[in-house]
Amino acid sequence: MIKIKSPAEIECMRKSGEILRDCLLFLGERVKAGVSTKRLDEFAYDYIIRHGAKPSFLGYGGFPGTICASVDEVVVHGFPSDKRLEEGQIFSLDCGLVFKGWQADAARTFPVGEISEEKQRLVDTTRESFFEAVKQFKVGKRLGDISNAVQTYCESRGYGVVRSMVGHGIGREMHEDPQVPNFGKAGHGPRLEVGMVLAIEPMINMGTWQTVENGWSCVTADRKPSAHYENTVALTENGAEILTL
Ligand code: MG
Ligand code: MG
Repeated sequence: MIKIKSPAEIECMRKSGEILRDCLLFLGERVKAGVSTKRLDEFAYDYIIRHGAKPSFLGYGGFPGTICASVDEVVVHGFPSDKRLEEGQIFSLDCGLVFKGWQADAARTFPVGEISEEKQRLVDTTRESFFEAVKQFKVGKRLGDISNAVQTYCESRGYGVVRSMVGHGIGREMHEDPQVPNFGKAGHGPRLEVGMVLAIEPMINMGTWQTVENGWSCVTADRKPSAHYENTVALTENGAEILTL
């Protein structure tokens, strides 16, 4: 069941979203070659606690970090580790927090130093496809229009759209109905309504869309790089509002 949020509830989610937005800006400034993802995880934990919120991922199903740290061919759910980031990698950082009972969820893929043009194109296309999706998040459209927008935008540029992981509704829970796939048929699925809040999160691969499970983490089947871009987005009377940007 899709939980519709009142304007007052969306106002609460706006506050959670602001903390996460600023946390990601803070972390982004610290992404560089030589820093370990565990160090970035510590920065994230400290930032969230200092702002009166709680990390959502830490302990979720046994997850050991505040952030998911997914480098190059890791699509999502990488563990923070002592491994240091290296020049030329792309680093997907996913983070969630809860503030006064309301969740926020967002991800960015950061370049580590200078990256290849083809990696930059992948990162840019992934981000752009999110905004294509947001254009469809309005009354009169259906969920499939969001999914189809991401798929069409990315596949027409030669990229693989991950099937094994999807976006989701969000509110008091990190994962609520509906699931928000990055692939699907336009004009299908639930009607979009004011008060829906979705975590829209394209996960896009340079090569094949296929992935394999590697313990916790999800890795591209061909080991080519993958990018991730996510925001928590509310549909209000004034249209789609991105709460974590
Ligand atoms: Mg996320
Ligand atoms: Mg999410």
